[in-house]
Amino acid sequence: MKHIVIIGLGSAGYAALMTIRRTAPKARISVIDPKLSDLMHPCGIPYSLGGHVPAAGLEQDIFLSKMGVEKLGGRALRIDGDARTITMRTDDGEREVRFDAAIIATGNAPFIPPIAGMERALYNGLYPLATVGDLKKINERLNSSARGIVIGAGAIGLEAAMALREHLTAVSLLELQPQLLPGILDPDMSAPVREHMEFHGVVIKTGTAVEEVLCDGAFAGVTGGGTAYAADVGILAAGFRAESELADRSGITTEPYGITVDEYMRSSIPGVFAAGDCVAAWSVIDGYRLPVKLATGAYRQGIVAGINAAGGDAVYRGTAGTFVTKVGGLEVAGTGYTTASAKAAGYATVEGKIRTGILPDYFPGNTEISLKVLCDKGSGRFLGAQAVTEKGAAERINLVSMALETGLMPADFWRVELAYCPAVSEVIDPLNKAVEFALRRIAR
Ligand SMILES: Cc1cc2nc3c(=O)[nH]c(=O)nc-3n(C[C@H](O)[C@H](O)[C@H](O)COP(=O)(O)OP(=O)(O)OC[C@H]3O[C@@H](n4cnc5c(N)ncnc54)[C@H](O)[C@@H]3O)c2cc1C
Repeated sequence: MKHIVIIGLGSAGYAALMTIRRTAPKARISVIDPKLSDLMHPCGIPYSLGGHVPAAGLEQDIFLSKMGVEKLGGRALRIDGDARTITMRTDDGEREVRFDAAIIATGNAPFIPPIAGMERALYNGLYPLATVGDLKKINERLNSSARGIVIGAGAIGLEAAMALREHLTAVSLLELQPQLLPGILDPDMSAPVREHMEFHGVVIKTGTAVEEVLCDGAFAGVTGGGTAYAADVGILAAGFRAESELADRSGITTEPYGITVDEYMRSSIPGVFAAGDCVAAWSVIDGYRLPVKLATGAYRQGIVAGINAAGGDAVYRGTAGTFVTKVGGLEVAGTGYTTASAKAAGYATVEGKIRTGILPDYFPGNTEISLKVLCDKGSGRFLGAQAVTEKGAAERINLVSMALETGLMPADFWRVELAYCPAVSEVIDPLNKAVEFALRRIAR
């Protein structure tokens, strides 16, 4: 009986596990993971911080033994590809686990920027927002806090800042880049998000490098751009890096964004696959390596790794980096390249942009949407899209994501009839109008 060992039980490891059980029901499956609960749901953490989800619901047992899956509590230290063994650390010391195929799904680790004073304050009033343990520590600290600071204006930083505003009178958000959501939204598309957050009382300082983390026995704030920001609690949301140390220690090829894998999710050691945030992802548009770390991609990669570890022949095509986040009352979504990243990849971009009501003018309760599609002037194909609105950003961006994945051209996309009734949409949807604007610019 083939023995498949999954290292790390997050989105990718779970997807691999369920796929192997379905496609190779006779395989023996073992899981190595240090968590006490089987699963932890990180995407819910900011919403739990904001009081919308009970923290207890973020940890889940899935009764692995009832599924016939062996759970080995501990951390994998090394893989020996010749001996077909994994050395792992448990509470009782080190042990070796033999395998026929292994899947590395060790996820990510928060990036800790090298800022003066960081060591004294980290986990002492200033916390990353990556685990339920972090969430509990922040919640405890909130009881004695009035002022909060979030470092980093990516999706998690924005969700965290809005969550802190539910508890604190003063919340500041500091970002090194000149805009919110750098790298995933164009500056003009991030402007309504900023307006919304400022309206809800978050003080935003973009283009501001944090120079020092202040500590007065515990975290006391930061200095940035020459100004001191006093605070009682801080959240560090400066991004994530691939957790690829196990691969490095095992002589497996890695690169800046993570473990190097091919489209079968095979690592450089035969029979050892890798999936999720620990691998270097690539663009479904053109194969360029991307720093994308999302549950959606991790899950898909886990399925592919699971099928192939069990002896199958599945292919992962790459990611469009399709995301959505809820920032207060706004849905913010995007897929593919931004204008800047498309230019950096060598494309001449044209855009179709619209800011309009989602419903017909006569209908009460209308809401506005800002929507942009990006196309390649040369080939005429889609490169990406972004949307910001109260409701309906993700559903439109998902359509463009499908076009990116399948190669559907804007001219064909524009002809697609989208569902309409005045209480939900317009007879010609803003997305189709934006595509039409882009098509006109391609034709010029
Ligand atoms: C606060 C937050 C909000 C997020 N929101 C979203 C969202 O809204 N949408 C979205 O798409 N993505 C979101 N993400 C990203 C998403 O959570 C990750 O992309 C996803 O969890 C990656 O899955 P993974 O399986 O690769 O890694 P993980 O889910 O991180 O799982 C890795 C597992 O490996 C284990 N492990 C690590 N090292 C070892 C080792 N040496 N031996 C054994 N086990 C090990 C860890 O304990 C962990 O259980 C969010 C992330 C965070 C932190």
